[in-house]
Amino acid sequence: MTRLTDPGETTAVLKRHGLSLKKRFGQNFLIDARVLDRIVAAADVQKTDTVLEIGPGIGTLTQALAEAAGHVTAVEIDRDLIPVLQETLAAYPNVEIVNQDILKYDIAALAARAEGSLKVVANLPYYITTPIIMSLLEGDIPAKSITVMIQKEVAERMAAGPGGKEYGALSLAVRYYAEPELIANVPPNCFIPRPAVSSVVIRLTLRQTPPVQTKDPAFLFAVIRAAFGQRRKTLTNSLANAGSLGLSKAQVQQALKDMELDENIRGEALDLAQFAELADRLQESSWKERT
Ligand code: SAM
Repeated sequence: MTRLTDPGETTAVLKRHGLSLKKRFGQNFLIDARVLDRIVAAADVQKTDTVLEIGPGIGTLTQALAEAAGHVTAVEIDRDLIPVLQETLAAYPNVEIVNQDILKYDIAALAARAEGSLKVVANLPYYITTPIIMSLLEGDIPAKSITVMIQKEVAERMAAGPGGKEYGALSLAVRYYAEPELIANVPPNCFIPRPAVSSVVIRLTLRQTPPVQTKDPAFLFAVIRAAFGQRRKTLTNSLANAGSLGLSKAQVQQALKDMELDENIRGEALDLAQFAELADRLQESSWKERT
């Protein structure tokens, strides 16, 4: 069987179905067999695994996943691609094709059916990379890992550590829920049509428990968002200016002092453990002020 990574084959399949690629759905189809093999290997898909593939397109990656996995559920928003998938995946009885927006699909129910063996694998549509990944992480889905191709710039922000310009709220959120690992760089010529940006395969291995203990994770994330809301400001000013947190400048200064941190420090200098400690101290001082 000709692999769909053959550019001529991809074009022929689309032509046969009278389809053209839709920019609004982020349709950049993979045409490089080595990259495809790299994704499947990085995801470490086993026969005992259930795979959720987001955006199967014409089924290029799906075929390889179906060969490696026990079961694949492929969720595709574009209903025009469903007849194509029914054709390209006809030889794979272990694939379920679902025509739905992934942001509306009940992943928790699939995870429950998978009984702890769920892995998420995708060449993601770039226009909604962050909402998809954050809904997977924050949804507390009991998946083992998320292995996805995304824009290089977003991957670098996800995997960044303190200090650099890529480091921010996204890096901290990812690190709270997962262990990120950059797997491979993928240039634009591995897709049709070529995207405007370079891509990266990233693997997020989900944690069983967060790496830091905090009394109120929602407050921790509110502090993190406020800390990076106004990047050029000091942490003290960013947090005291964020009305929703209800913190005074003096409160923030005192908490930083208690942690032996400079009151002019910026958010990008703090790691996750320091943010967790700061959030707990700030919340405690707010309670004390109120009582
Ligand atoms: N997996 C294919 C490949 O590697 O060639 C296609 C990848 S393409 C970058 C992204 C796919 O996601 C497209 O098929 C697109 O129609 C689909 N898609 C876009 N938005 C989606 C959504 N909200 N839910 C599910 N699929 C979506």
